[in-house]
Amino acid sequence: MPIKVPTRPLGSTGLEISIIGFGASPLGNVFGDVHQDTATEAVRTAFDLGITLFDTSPFYGLTKSEDVLGQALRDAGLPRDQFVLATKVGRYGQDTFDFSGPRVTRSVEESLERLHTSYIDLIQVHDMEFGSLDQIIAETLPALQRLKEKGLVRHIGITGLPLACFQYVLDRVPCGTVDVVLSYCHYTLCDQSLGRILPYLESKAVGVINASVLGMGLLTPHGPPAWHPAPAELQAAARAAARAADAHAVDLPKLATMFSVANPGIATHLIGFSTPDQVRNAVHAVLQAQGLEENAQAEQEERAMVEIREILAGTAQVTWPSGLPEN
Ligand code: NAD
Repeated sequence: MPIKVPTRPLGSTGLEISIIGFGASPLGNVFGDVHQDTATEAVRTAFDLGITLFDTSPFYGLTKSEDVLGQALRDAGLPRDQFVLATKVGRYGQDTFDFSGPRVTRSVEESLERLHTSYIDLIQVHDMEFGSLDQIIAETLPALQRLKEKGLVRHIGITGLPLACFQYVLDRVPCGTVDVVLSYCHYTLCDQSLGRILPYLESKAVGVINASVLGMGLLTPHGPPAWHPAPAELQAAARAAARAADAHAVDLPKLATMFSVANPGIATHLIGFSTPDQVRNAVHAVLQAQGLEENAQAEQEERAMVEIREILAGTAQVTWPSGLPEN
């Protein structure tokens, strides 16, 4: 029996979830082609090793990720009550957003069909900085609340890049309206700015999901895809970090995963997986970071980590614009 990924509570939801989750955007082919069989094997491997959170969106691959994940969950035969399925509403293309009540209601119905399920554990407002935050407060969240009352969704979350948007919304809705915040690219080896608002999020009793542990591919040996929005100086720093990892003969995604999961204030960390091997690598990283598995390379990894953190310290404040100017 393999040692399974440990779990943490997700805010006040009552859910216990694995401290890394399966990010399914790669299943929409957004980082390169992934075959259905490989996706199914990756999903099965993840579940067997204790990963119980699967996150997708109608946006990833313009519904392909939901289709492929839905098929994989069905083919792998995962027991529906033993994993947490998360998807999103509001973003449907690079520049296509609709946060209206009728559209998000229909969106959930479409996602249920693609995912072959009768309920979604966590429904999230996707990249809310591209919409009117006041509309999200007055219309989107109440529409999702009605779906919750009907039992079609169980918990409600909000997602986006600018951290200030979370505070804007959470300060204007009654406690318990938003159960979960999903932030991305803000708690990685490159950028730890999410850390600054963790006490605020805790005061609002929301569960925190840190997505894109590898900075959407920045912290991988092959580097990010062409569409990556990071400015040139950040991309250059990440390439230098990858060269340093190479010189120390250590695995950069593993170091990045070990770094993020060490923060106990974050319930879970999403990594986008394209293959079963990537899942296994991430699980080893988590087990080592939690002291549940030993590694003969540990000292070498520590030395590499010091050098890589120095390389990335210079760009720690560097991010990129996302959303409407007023947000
Ligand atoms: P990520 O930082 O997890 O990087 C994914 C990339 O890293 C993919 O190309 C994958 O093939 C590669 N990779 C994974 N493990 C690897 C390994 N061991 N070696 C080499 N390469 C490896 O980026 P992500 O997928 O964008 O983020 C994770 C998940 O978080 C997404 O899939 C999605 O579910 C979620 N997310 C949500 C939002 C949002 O709601 N706004 C934004 C970003 C991400």
